[in-house]
Amino acid sequence: MVDVSAIAAAISAFKGASDIGHAMINLRDAAAFQSKLLDFQSKLIEANASVFAAQDERAELLRQIADLDQEISKLKAEKRKFDRYQLKDYGDNSFAYELKASEANGEPLHRACATCFNDEKISILQFSHKSEGQDWYDCPRCKKNQHFGTRVRRESYRSHDSDF
Ligand SMILES: [Zn+2]
Repeated sequence: MVDVSAIAAAISAFKGASDIGHAMINLRDAAAFQSKLLDFQSKLIEANASVFAAQDERAELLRQIADLDQEISKLKAEKRKFDRYQLKDYGDNSFAYELKASEANGEPLHRACATCFNDEKISILQFSHKSEGQDWYDCPRCKKNQHFGTRVRRESYRSHDSDF
C-alpha cells in the first residue's frame, strides 16, 4: 500500500520555508540573514525531496489503479460467463446449471456441474448413461458421477431394455 505522507511533508517543508522567508524580510544583520538563508535553502531542499517522493507515490497509485481496473474488467468478464447459466432442478432435487437458450450464441445447450460452478468453475457435464429413468452425467473436473431426474424403480420402469 502506498504511504501518501510525501505530499504532507512537502506542504510542511514549503510552509517552513515560507515562514523563514517572512522572518528574513526584516533582518538587517548580515550574519543573522545568512543563517536564515541557510535554513531557507535547507527547507527548499527538503520540500524538493518531498515533491519527488510525492511524484513516486502518485506513479505507484496510478499503477495500482490501472491494476485494479484490469482486475475489475477481468471479474466483470468472469461474471458475464456465469450469468449465462441458471440453476435448474431436473427432478427430485437433482440440480445443475444450464446454459440459458438466450445466452447460447450458437453453443449447444448443456449442463454445468453445480459443485464446480459454486467453486467458480464452469465444467460441462458429459452424458454417461441412463438408468432407472435417470440420466447420469460425469463431471470431467470434480469426477463426480451425477444423476438427474426422478428415479423409476425397476419393477415399474417400462422403458427400453438397454436403459437398465
Ligand atoms: Zn464438477
